[in-house]
Amino acid sequence: MNPLAILRKDCERPIVNIDDFSLLDERDHLHYLDSAATTQKPRAVLQAMQSYYEQHNANPHRGAYELSAQSTEAYERSRKRIARFLGVADVDTLIFTRGTTESLNVLATAWGRANVKAGDRIVVTRMEHHANFVPWQQLALAVGAEFVIAELAPGGVLDLDHLAQCCTPNTKVVAFGQVSNALGTINPVSEIVRIARTTGALVVCDGAQGVPHFDAAVDALGVDAYVFSGHKMLGPMGIGGLVVRREILEAMPPYQFGGDMIALVGDERSTWNVLPHKFEAGTPNVAGAVGLAAAAQYLDGIGMSRVRAHEAALLAYTTARLTEVPGVTVLGPPPERRSGVVSFVLDEVHPHDIAQVLDSAGVCVRSGHHCAQPLMRALKVSATTRASFYVYNDADDVDALIVALLTTRDRMGLA
Ligand code: PLP
Repeated sequence: MNPLAILRKDCERPIVNIDDFSLLDERDHLHYLDSAATTQKPRAVLQAMQSYYEQHNANPHRGAYELSAQSTEAYERSRKRIARFLGVADVDTLIFTRGTTESLNVLATAWGRANVKAGDRIVVTRMEHHANFVPWQQLALAVGAEFVIAELAPGGVLDLDHLAQCCTPNTKVVAFGQVSNALGTINPVSEIVRIARTTGALVVCDGAQGVPHFDAAVDALGVDAYVFSGHKMLGPMGIGGLVVRREILEAMPPYQFGGDMIALVGDERSTWNVLPHKFEAGTPNVAGAVGLAAAAQYLDGIGMSRVRAHEAALLAYTTARLTEVPGVTVLGPPPERRSGVVSFVLDEVHPHDIAQVLDSAGVCVRSGHHCAQPLMRALKVSATTRASFYVYNDADDVDALIVALLTTRDRMGLA
């Protein structure tokens, strides 16, 4: 067998039953390569949510009646299931939020306003998603702290020496992504944590692109705070989480007020409920939590090492086949340092035009700055085209991408 045929064979089939995914099952011609933006949902997730609404729906925590107790039980059981998936032992330190963006805003607002003062320093990296950049930038502007960006080394990886220089004794926050959504760069978390620990900073890891792709083992990462979104790991939109070390959460003021986060309300002062409720104001997204627990169950059923291996195989095959398309430049580090993401530019064709031609061939990719404008500036591009893979993709999707890229060249009149 020739080398390309071997690479193809390694990712010939998806590692799930496509009929688990109604949307993909019903659209044979669709090649969904935008899972870094959001994943498709297996029936198990949709059914879990439907059955919650059909059989157990009530406002949790507050009612004295049986149905409310069932809803509470469904919500708290989901928290336990998701904590187990994440490798978090202290279940009550998993706070449900709407997702990564909200989790980071909770940290920057509630923890940040209480702990970061004028003259302190906040360090982020050049490759952050806006959600892990702007909340810290705005905090720095609001309190008069210094906002410092750890730059990249050539090849789209973090410059660890520069990070070390950035981490001065007055650093109060070091915030970094586990995996870059724009390039797929897998960051060396333990190295980053080691450097960040030379300061007394809060160490924040954005796991939005980590949890879906490998065993998160959050407790073992050694970070203070870890954030993620359910919809990027086969779960529903509108649910995600924030895991923070207990002593930090205990000391941190609430982010929002009302509902079950209250213990006692006096005329002049109020007190707060225990964890995790202190940070979950208002009626929670119980169905979302139930759906996310079903997603965790589904991923555990596949095994995260298989998920990672499948993505690596797809990436290797794509990288090899992209050499057939003249004028393509893949950005970021070599495949072994990347998750299932291929971000590229094609001669002078604008990524939006590429994405449109690809769409006419049923290939869904993302084009634009990927909510990473600081990174795009450093790469000296305004946008890229990004294909991202997941458990339901296979070599056919890659083949369709390559054919559509060749068509794009033809349509754009490139030689
Ligand atoms: N951080 C990273 C690395 C991401 O990839 C994303 C979404 O693409 C986010 C944060 C924001 O996630 P959400 O929109 O689910 O809040």
